[in-house]
Amino acid sequence: MVKETGFYDVLGVKPGCSPEDLKKAYRKLAMKYHPDKNPNEGERFKAISMAYEVLSDPEKKAIYDEGGEAAIKQGGAGGGGFHSPMDIFDMLINGGMGGGRREQRGRDLVHRLTVTLEELYSGATRKLSLQKSVICDGCDGIGGKRGTVHKCVPCNGTGILTKVHHIMPGFMQQNKVPCRACQGQGEVFDEKHKCKKCDGQKKVRDKKILDVHIEKGMRDGQKIVFSGEGDQEPGLQPGDIVIALEERPHPVFKRSGKDLMMEMRLELSEALCGFQKVITTLDKRSLVITSMPGEVIKHSAFKCIMDEGMPQWKNPFEKGRLIMQFRVVFPDSLPGEAAKLLEQYLPPKPAEEIPQDVEMVELVELDPEQESRNQYKNAYEEDEEDGGTPGVRIQQCATS
Ligand SMILES: [Zn+2]
Ligand SMILES: [Zn+2]
Repeated sequence: MVKETGFYDVLGVKPGCSPEDLKKAYRKLAMKYHPDKNPNEGERFKAISMAYEVLSDPEKKAIYDEGGEAAIKQGGAGGGGFHSPMDIFDMLINGGMGGGRREQRGRDLVHRLTVTLEELYSGATRKLSLQKSVICDGCDGIGGKRGTVHKCVPCNGTGILTKVHHIMPGFMQQNKVPCRACQGQGEVFDEKHKCKKCDGQKKVRDKKILDVHIEKGMRDGQKIVFSGEGDQEPGLQPGDIVIALEERPHPVFKRSGKDLMMEMRLELSEALCGFQKVITTLDKRSLVITSMPGEVIKHSAFKCIMDEGMPQWKNPFEKGRLIMQFRVVFPDSLPGEAAKLLEQYLPPKPAEEIPQDVEMVELVELDPEQESRNQYKNAYEEDEEDGGTPGVRIQQCATS
């Protein structure tokens, strides 16, 4: 029989559950509420960590089961205090305390490269200059003269200092911070043996110029990886340089998979009486399209040109379509006699019976955009008064 179940409840487990279930429950919740993912749930993350720390330690668990949370906080935890939630997380998830976050590989450098649609269509080579850390060649990444290194005193060679905060009597929190004296390296050189080139840092900043080959048909968001060109760290595999392509919007063409989309404005005369139009492609060729007199192009109609879309990546002779949508511009008015003349050539008007007793009324201009703006404003103002949310109100308007 346990005194209270608060810590079990926090983890969503029952007293008497197996250590595996406990670990599983902690892992799931800690991933969910980790500050990297859920910065507003710091307290929750702390509570989960503390509960796990107690319940996963047989000694602490016994104290808790017998005396509850108060017993644990009164220093009954064997004087060990508590670890910081981050350390517990690191220990379990990343497999080691403190140093658990260190990977076997150096950092990847991710760089965004803005490219034009023309470059993605025709392919291009771009030179990219960036800064990265490289192993110092003055000392081969040792930091000083070989054989003169000695263990850092303040951190006892671990590179990490542990700071203990007393939060309340018997309740301590340990924070691990990198040792400043050795920059977290755990070892130092005497001033006179330190490498002059890197000042004992073992690495230096270097400028690197990369030739980035943008291949025909690559896409927005596509990544080009330069394996092993990332930051170098002593004792680690270098990371990668990752170039992420970012397509700049084009004024004429929009990409839709392997197709290109464009809008084409037509005067009414062109839509009704035929036209010729020149389209400049992304590789600067001129295509001419023709609509013969007598052919009618309707407003919003689509047409396409085969094989003038985007080239397929790795198979650039295969191309998509160039799809155009027509926007027919109507004239604001016509001379009266022209209207009469035009009427002869258009489909006849349907006959409209006008009854005897009618009222003649006027048509007034209306701008639907302005209209919906006003509607939104009114709905919002009403909601300000009754404290509702504007989104809900607008939906009500739309359905009523
Ligand atoms: Zn050096
Ligand atoms: Zn140190």
